[in-house]
Amino acid sequence: MNIILLGAPGSGKGTQAKLLSEKYDFKHISTGQVFRDEIAKKTELGLIADSYISKGYLVPDDITVDVLKKNLSNLQENFILDGFPRNVNQAEKLSDIVKIDRVILIDAKEEIIKERLLGRLTCINCGEIFNKINYSLSHCSKCGGELIIRGDDNEEAIVKRLEVYKVATKPLIDFYKAKKLLSVIDGNGTIPEQFSNIEKELLKFGELN
Ligand code: AMP
Repeated sequence: MNIILLGAPGSGKGTQAKLLSEKYDFKHISTGQVFRDEIAKKTELGLIADSYISKGYLVPDDITVDVLKKNLSNLQENFILDGFPRNVNQAEKLSDIVKIDRVILIDAKEEIIKERLLGRLTCINCGEIFNKINYSLSHCSKCGGELIIRGDDNEEAIVKRLEVYKVATKPLIDFYKAKKLLSVIDGNGTIPEQFSNIEKELLKFGELN
């Protein structure tokens, strides 16, 4: 099953994609993580991507679609896209490349999202996500990597990212609704609650293994 996780920044896409790919046979593809890896390695792509990401803007479509294609090569099924597509143009390009079986919108309130983003700690090594509210260690409990605050998890960039979500990404809700691919799950609860909501929804449309 090929899945897209859709939702605002901080809705839980990354966390849920990670959990789903740990429990089931999915490959987790996060364009944001690919960009962060390139930024850390200081590659040319990383430098370009960083100039957009740090301000809360989307990286231009031609660059992002290229990154996606490279990560999808040799892969026809069983993947979770986390953070792609982020606008209708990207969604149209995607439908020319692969078949999508289900799109899960993680729907969370803006005040909850802001709180999550402002408290978020990300492992520099494995990308695991924690929150200052309930995690006081300075290193990742999974791999021991250093925890950092993402460059775009600051007040100014968050406001911009939420605005970009409303203008560019939200139209994807109608786009996938029209294709009868959209499921909406409540994203306001805890991580296990979200996970169980997503599992239930996916099981309606196919087997998970
Ligand atoms: P994420 O990790 O999904 O929150 O992505 C972090 C940042 O990477 C976003 O705010 C964008 O600047 C950039 N990015 C990730 N995915 C895309 C995409 N599909 N299109 C354009 N920019 C993206």
